Order: sequence, then C-alpha cells, then structure tokens
Amino acid sequence: MNFDKIPYKIYLNENEIPTQWYNMRADMKNKPAPLLHPGTHEPLTAEQMYAFFCEELVHQELDDTTPYIDIPQEIRDFYKMYRPAPLVRAYCLEEKLKTPAKIYYKFEGNNTSGSHKLNSAIAQAYYAKKQGLKGVTTETGAGQWGTALSMACAYLGLDCKVYMVKCSYEQKPFRREVMRTYGANVTPSPSMDTEVGRRILEAHPGTTGSLGCAISEAVEVASKDPGYRYVLGSVLNQVLLHQSVIGLEAKAALDKYGIKPDIIIGCAGGGSNLGGLIAPFMGEKLRGEADYRIIAVEPASCPSFTRGVYAYDFCDTGMICPLAKMYTLGSGFIPSPSHAGGLRFHGMSTTLSQLYHDGLMEARAVEQTSVFEAAEQFARCEGILPAPESSHAIRAAIDEAVKCRETGEEKTILFGLTGTGYFDMYAYEAFNDGKMGDYIPTDDDIRAGLANVPQFPGNEFEF
Ligand SMILES: *Cc1c(COP(=O)(O)O)cnc(C)c1O
Repeated sequence: MNFDKIPYKIYLNENEIPTQWYNMRADMKNKPAPLLHPGTHEPLTAEQMYAFFCEELVHQELDDTTPYIDIPQEIRDFYKMYRPAPLVRAYCLEEKLKTPAKIYYKFEGNNTSGSHKLNSAIAQAYYAKKQGLKGVTTETGAGQWGTALSMACAYLGLDCKVYMVKCSYEQKPFRREVMRTYGANVTPSPSMDTEVGRRILEAHPGTTGSLGCAISEAVEVASKDPGYRYVLGSVLNQVLLHQSVIGLEAKAALDKYGIKPDIIIGCAGGGSNLGGLIAPFMGEKLRGEADYRIIAVEPASCPSFTRGVYAYDFCDTGMICPLAKMYTLGSGFIPSPSHAGGLRFHGMSTTLSQLYHDGLMEARAVEQTSVFEAAEQFARCEGILPAPESSHAIRAAIDEAVKCRETGEEKTILFGLTGTGYFDMYAYEAFNDGKMGDYIPTDDDIRAGLANVPQFPGNEFEF
C-alpha cells in the first residue's frame, strides 16, 4: 500500500465538533423559492407554519440571511455520542482501481440509526422539547429516519409516532423493532387512523404505500393534536442546515492537511446529506473564494434532477402539504420498487434545486445493478458494508477515479458515505443471486406522475 503523509483516517477531537451550523442560503444570490400555501399559492407565513412545525424550526426554515447559527450545547453533547465522524482516505480502493486520484469519504454510518439522519433528528426533537410539546409525528420509508428520530426522542423523553411505508414495514421488521425498542409507536401506512389514509386505501385498495402518502398521514395527525408537531427528515432548509455539520467537519479535517477537493459527490434523495456535505464548500464557491465540481447522484428509477421539471409541486401524495419549488417527477409519480428506499422521493430540496438550476452543481442518474457492483467492490476493499443509498455516491466516485486513471490526472475526490446497509440484506441477496433488475421509468410514466403538479400562473413547465 502506498500510504503518503495523510493518515488512513483523519479524526477531529470532540472540541472540534462545530459550534455553529452554516446556512448556505445566506450566501446565495438567488434564494430558494419560498414554500407556498396549497390553497392560496401565497408564501406561507411563520404563523401558518407554527400549526405543524416547531417555532424555532420555522425561524430556521425561513432564515435566508444568517450565515452561522449556534448549535445549542445540548445538541452538541448528543453529537459527542457518535461524532466527530471520521474522514477516511480510501487507500485500498485507490489501489484496487489503480487510479492516481485521491479518494476521501466522510462516514456517517457510525451510530445505531446507521445514517446521517440522526444529525437533524436530535436537533428537531430538541426544539420540540424546548417548546414544551408532548411529541412529534413523522413518516419513514426505508426506516433510517424513523430510527434516528426514535433515538433522539427516547433520549429527550418525547413521544414519537412514526408512519412507516407499508411495504417497508413488512419487508424490514428489524428496522421496525429497533424503532419500537427506542419507544416509538410505528404504524404501517396507509392506515385507517387518518382521513387521508382511508381516502388513499379506498382509491387504491391493497396499496403498499409510498413516502408521499406516509407524509400526508403524519402531517394530518400532528395538525389535529396541539401537543404534537410534524418533523421531516430531508428536503427542508432546516434539515440541510443541521446536516451542514457533515461538511464543516469534513472541511476542518481536510484543512488540517491542506487538502482541497476537486470533486465533491453525494447521493441525493431529498438532498439533505448532499446539501450538508457541500455546504461550506458551496459557500466558498458562492462567495467566489474557490471552485469545486459538485455532483448529485440519483437512482435512474427516481431521477428528479435529471428528468424532472422545475416547478412548484406538492411534497406528499395526499396533496395536503405546502408547495415547494423543486425538481420534481410529480407527487403522483410512483417510483418502481428499487432497493434504495431513502432515494425514492419524487422531489428535491428547494435549495439544491435552485443551485442546480443556476448551474452551480451537476447531477447524474445511475442504475441499480451498477450501484450494487460499486457497493460490493467498496465493501471488499474498504471493509464497510454500505447502504444502497450511499452506494450511488460510491458508483460516481469510482467512475470519476477511473477517468483519472485514463487521463493520468491526480484529482482529489470527496464523497459522502451516508450509512451502512445491514438492514438491506434482501437487496444484497437479490444482487448476489443475479436477480436484481434495473427499472427506468418511460417518458409516459413521468408524464403521468406530473399530472398532479398544480397549475397556476407562473407555474408553467415543459416536459
Ligand atoms: C435517507 C438517506 C439518504 C438520502 O436522503 P438525503 O436527504 O438525500 O440525504 C441517503 N443515504 C442514507 C443512508 C439515508 O438513510
């Protein structure tokens, strides 16, 4: 192994956990579009948002101007249980690929939830607790977000109601049990508990649910009980803000050795890990201090950035949530049954959508089997069994490193390894048995999904 002066893992110490989150929006010339009321199409006011979000989180959601926001000490104390997360030099992968590129990854899977989602779960639960609420409601698809929120709520003594997409509830009983072990109440969605659930079940008997549908149920439950608020694990500005801890730590570690990445890569579901990883680097880019190539990687089965339209759309299937301006496949889009549950969302963060629209980042879509080939290659030389979602970033990092082998360029690549895949062994089984397929929606599939995009002046789009 050709180790140079950089250690295999760059650790920060506890005191180097950031004391402030970084808010990219403050440095964006074109701010992300505001959330709109689904009835009036007017921007949502803070007062309207207080009905379903915690107050402090509403302020964070609407704050487009404050660049640095203090991380409360209680949240930093919780972060100490599993942070700082290591930044790893993928020496073994570099050698296997025979690439002159230098590959680094920020590993966020070192906690029981198995993903980066705990970074925002603890923040959102903390503000709910501070507001004196009894509990929070949420949805979970693959289960990582529900698990993270259950852990945070258990720690703070908050009640946690999770609506879990029915097919995951049935296919991932162990995820469900982890959540219940942390004290969460887990309901398969769609359920008969809510009006929207009953409406969806009536229209689609036997449906195994979707993320958009579970969101509708969780929002309805929170809006009917004054002691509860709804929390969301991705997409929102506040979530990207909390996840900036990933990028701030990664940058601090790289800075110790004077390393500057050329390419930064992350998988994109709702955009939270990517938004967090790139935050301080994008800040430099926006302020004209440095330049980076930034690549979002999404599944070819749910290609919001690469094939979606940029328009105001509902975040949920029940069409009761506010409208967000984003790259979307339409709230009616039903992604085919891919194994990267955390990337099966029809929309995208409004902040990342604006950055992509302004040409400040790129996106590419990759197919499932090629993602698992990358996952296997990575696991066999770097030791970590990656989550299918994270493996989208691995795929793109390997592809870029192979390009460097061909051109001889010594580029430095940084990617986000968002989590571990121990609860995804049915997916690995399908891959190992050669039974995994690649589902790519046709243009007609996407056109059908876009049928529910609301039509109003100023929201025209072409597909
Ligand atoms: C949820 C999840 C993702 C995708 O969500 P983003 O909000 O786009 O980051 C990626 N990786 C893992 C492991 C996840 O749990």
